[in-house]
Amino acid sequence: MRSKLVAGNWKMHGGLAANAALLSALLTEIDTLPCEVVVCPPFPYLAQAQQVLAGSALKLGAQNVSQHPAGAYTGEVSVSMLREFGCRYVLLGHSERRAIYGESDATVAAKFEAVLAEGLVPVLCVGETLADRQAGETEMVVGRQLDAVLARLGVAALGCGIVAYEPVWAIGTGQTATPEQAQLVHAFIRQRVAASDDEVAAKLRILYGGSVKADNAAALFGQPDIDGGLIGGAALVAEDFLAICRATGVSSS
Ligand code: PEP
Repeated sequence: MRSKLVAGNWKMHGGLAANAALLSALLTEIDTLPCEVVVCPPFPYLAQAQQVLAGSALKLGAQNVSQHPAGAYTGEVSVSMLREFGCRYVLLGHSERRAIYGESDATVAAKFEAVLAEGLVPVLCVGETLADRQAGETEMVVGRQLDAVLARLGVAALGCGIVAYEPVWAIGTGQTATPEQAQLVHAFIRQRVAASDDEVAAKLRILYGGSVKADNAAALFGQPDIDGGLIGGAALVAEDFLAICRATGVSSS
């Protein structure tokens, strides 16, 4: 049985005071939550979060990383730097990174390799645009994004990470995929991995992201191939994020 995980992607939001309040509210309930919980603040706040979360069950992640270990890459951050600040997870290939910063499947696969090489856990974001979906190309796009990592690193390496299915049309729009729509793509992802290795596929955690809220989380998390969520907007409000985390317990019984 796969354990559930909920990760909060703060995107480019936050500030010292707001972060302190949010993290301390999450810490008051962290030991009662039925899932693993991760927060991914912007880079400058990792040190603050590391200090506040020390010794707690609330885990730390980053929103992006360089594929290079060190060197003349102005503005970039390496995996070993993230590790020094207590990060265990790294989001890779978020649709905003792909669309706004032009990250290719090949770049994302190189980042996946770099994250694994330092012993951190990559969270590979995949998902189709509205145009892709309307053209009937959801599986082709998601399959291509997965295959980039499978081809470069192999199925065992993919199995050391987590996949987050995030339909681009659902991110930050309030337009969530229905549980059935999401389940279909999650099952497709698992089958794609199973074509290489059944055991890896059965153990792989696949999160759903895209306008998850307290009132739709339980139905999504109740689907057989949805193992938790990657949460944007609702991760900035402690009560909303906690309610989403609690909703993982509704389906796991
Ligand atoms: C995200 O940023 O990955 C995300 C899913 O955002 P939201 O929950 O706001 O749609």
